[in-house]
Amino acid sequence: MQSGIVAVVATGGTIAGTAARPDDHVAYAAAQLDAEALVAAVPPLAGQPIETETLARLDSCDMDHATWLRLRARLAALLVRPDVAGVVITHGTDTLEETAYFLHRTLAAPKPVVLTAAMRPATALGADGPQNLLDAVRLAACEGARGVLVAFGGQIFIGAELRKVHGWRLQPFSAGDAGVLGVMADGALARFRDWPAAPLHAAAAALPPADRWPAVEIVTSHAGARGVLVDALVAAGVRGLVVAGTGNGSVHHAIGEAARRAERAGVPVRRASRCQLGGVVGAPPGALVSAGTLTAVQARIELVLDLIAADRARA
Ligand code: ASP
Repeated sequence: MQSGIVAVVATGGTIAGTAARPDDHVAYAAAQLDAEALVAAVPPLAGQPIETETLARLDSCDMDHATWLRLRARLAALLVRPDVAGVVITHGTDTLEETAYFLHRTLAAPKPVVLTAAMRPATALGADGPQNLLDAVRLAACEGARGVLVAFGGQIFIGAELRKVHGWRLQPFSAGDAGVLGVMADGALARFRDWPAAPLHAAAAALPPADRWPAVEIVTSHAGARGVLVDALVAAGVRGLVVAGTGNGSVHHAIGEAARRAERAGVPVRRASRCQLGGVVGAPPGALVSAGTLTAVQARIELVLDLIAADRARA
């Protein structure tokens, strides 16, 4: 089936989760199984040229910058090997879109880097992980495939466009207005759009250790909002802020005024939307800097990278 080796790198998540009862989709422990066990649970992968490694065992709600750096370094080492066709990363669904966006902006991926996950633990009746993993491995072995991608629920997403829009539905992801890259149809990819290509962020050339990454936080605008969170974050030494605004990036005046105080104190602020789809279009006079099409969590990563690049330019 495959022309080269597919490396499967496990990081945890529900796909590696186990529960005491097969009908339990909630009170399970995430990140219990290693990469070898995940592959062993997919009979069509038996005998295929697959390498496995377990890089982390995290519930992805606990994903952190140090793990991202370790993952990125491992992926770079795997992708450079001529015998490796592509890489699959098993991950939790909760922060999948953040890891995908970080890798999209910082990892040269001339071969496919396919993230996958599951909404039901491995012990569930109708566990979705094994089929998702099979699709991910098949995609990673696809001739000509490239970029950071996500295989989930029979659909293939461009990693940078992914967003989790539902808390517990079996397909919790959306590709946004652009739609999915393709679908896995009878084990083969049917592709509707071009592979993702984007220049890497300037910071990708030399990312510092995670303990030197600038702190960037997200504040949500809402009815009855006050500026205290913004002021407290600035007082605590935050380096940048993203405001997840209402609708098309509108911001409660109290947060807007605090954001202006933050900017005057040298803390850049980006204006995103708390809506998962659509991003922010246009900029009314006097508005904070727009994060454009990025979601708030993507805008946070982008601002971290901007600040790293600015720090390096100053050094
Ligand atoms: N909390 C889990 C995680 O993100 C949820 C999942 O994988 O679906 O690791």
